[in-house]
Amino acid sequence: MESAPSQTDFLVIGAGVAGLRAAVELAAAGTVLVLAKREVTDSNTQWAQGGIAAALSDEDEISLHLQDTLEAGDGLCNPQAAKVLVEDAPERIDELIQWGTEFDRQGTKLTFGREGAHSRNRILHAHGDSTGREILRALYAKSQTLKNISVREFEFSANLIVQNGRVCGVHLINEKGEQQQTTASAVLLATGGMGQIYRNTTNPAVATGDGVAMAFRAGAEVSDMEFIQFHPTALYLKSAPRFLLSEALRGEGAYLRNIELDRFMPKYHPMGELAPRDVVARAIVHELEVSSVKDPLVYLDLTHLDADYIKKRFPRIYSTCMQLNIDITADLIPIRPAAHYAMGGVRTDLEGRCTLPGLYAAGEAAATGVHGANRLASNSLLEGLVFGARAGKTMRDELRHAPAGSSEPNRAVSNGPIDTATEAVIGELQDLMWQDVGIVRSGPRLKAAIEQLSRIAPRMAHPQTRRAHEAQNLHALGLLVARSALAREESRGAHYRTDFPAHDDAKFLKHSIVKGDSIRFA
Ligand SMILES: Cc1cc2nc3c(=O)[nH]c(=O)nc-3n(C[C@H](O)[C@H](O)[C@H](O)COP(=O)(O)OP(=O)(O)OC[C@H]3O[C@@H](n4cnc5c(N)ncnc54)[C@H](O)[C@@H]3O)c2cc1C
Repeated sequence: MESAPSQTDFLVIGAGVAGLRAAVELAAAGTVLVLAKREVTDSNTQWAQGGIAAALSDEDEISLHLQDTLEAGDGLCNPQAAKVLVEDAPERIDELIQWGTEFDRQGTKLTFGREGAHSRNRILHAHGDSTGREILRALYAKSQTLKNISVREFEFSANLIVQNGRVCGVHLINEKGEQQQTTASAVLLATGGMGQIYRNTTNPAVATGDGVAMAFRAGAEVSDMEFIQFHPTALYLKSAPRFLLSEALRGEGAYLRNIELDRFMPKYHPMGELAPRDVVARAIVHELEVSSVKDPLVYLDLTHLDADYIKKRFPRIYSTCMQLNIDITADLIPIRPAAHYAMGGVRTDLEGRCTLPGLYAAGEAAATGVHGANRLASNSLLEGLVFGARAGKTMRDELRHAPAGSSEPNRAVSNGPIDTATEAVIGELQDLMWQDVGIVRSGPRLKAAIEQLSRIAPRMAHPQTRRAHEAQNLHALGLLVARSALAREESRGAHYRTDFPAHDDAKFLKHSIVKGDSIRFA
């Protein structure tokens, strides 16, 4: 296996929608090295089912998309960022189509689905429920036509290199456990989500938030970390992963039923099953808590919908559930909420610049403020596209000479066998986060979680393997989420505290910003 080059013009860490879109933008200006820690197909992008939002249908307007985005964000969206998102959307989608993305159509016309908290049908989807996979396929194919781009799989980025206050490269660990450094004019973090800080998550195993943790360690500001979106409907079978059951199912008319088989959402919100995700997730938690049954369940019910249509519209969900002996057209589907999306991340401006010179971020790893306190469904693939392109353009415009690559010989560290101590501490952390820093929070439990996280810190202090680096990153992120959640003494969007159940606009209509040990609201 050839090692990664020691120098490149641009380094893009992450090969999901944000990283690949940025790479395409950068290719005209210099060499671009795109890194993925596993296969290119292993990312949150690959798993995105429901679709991508854009005001493109005849019945829609950009101003309505903006209004829905701001409403979902519960007062905390950065309005400029949200405006950029919805205004850039049509052009970015057109481009994707030109590059070969096959969105679903009826005849020649694009078809638009509906999801929670959208006032119009505006969700483009591909192969029914494989939208992310199709976008990734097309972007990757496009990147392969550009000779300046090289994509390297199984290259794990462990830490940023900072020289004279400027980020200029990264320490890598390859598949064999060999370390090396690669330097660059600029580094883009497009490392995706951090769902793995929780026991129950829809995110794949790669979603350990490495980019956010690396940036924080290097001294960058992170923002809005308390806002984690919990998806209400993940499949809940003891022996199976928490497979996502897309919101689009409820968009097509699926009901939620409690253990008594009653439809309960209408009593929680006028939009019923299409209420914002945080409302639905908390309603489910409440239904589970008040049930007199031991180990109760909540169900998603599609049995009243047209079976042939459902099979055609959701082929991936249908076949995955069938493999687990659930026929979604005939059976009730057991579900529970699961951690799904991080609204916060590395703080950036509208052009993807972080607070450390030389460092940029885009996609789920970034906090542009576009989602505020809660993300509108199907706005995140779009965010990756729009802000990936913008970050790429800025990095291109700000190109300078990369410092010389290091001639330091590679040092081998171990990558295996599976270290049971590391797995055990990750499991402890995930349980703790789920119980005390999850959907329903309170001051005493958040304080207890922070104390417990501080106690387990020494067990992750000196990582030697890729997995141990992930553990250290999960720990850093867990603490950031807990500290930010404790500091925000109100409830807003996806952040709910029983001891402060209302908004406090006077104090908290602001973003939380953490740098090192200090936390502020601005
Ligand atoms: C099940 C599921 C369904 C979803 N459905 C939708 C939907 O319908 N619509 C929507 O808009 N959004 C959806 N989302 C959210 C959306 O998929 C993500 O927010 C988006 O794809 C993130 O893209 P990204 O490019 O930022 O990161 P990702 O696609 O997650 O890519 C991250 C990349 O970073 C690499 N990486 C990470 N750490 C390192 C490291 N240390 N070193 C090297 N490489 C690294 C990974 O290998 C990967 O290539 C869904 C998410 C999930 C999990």
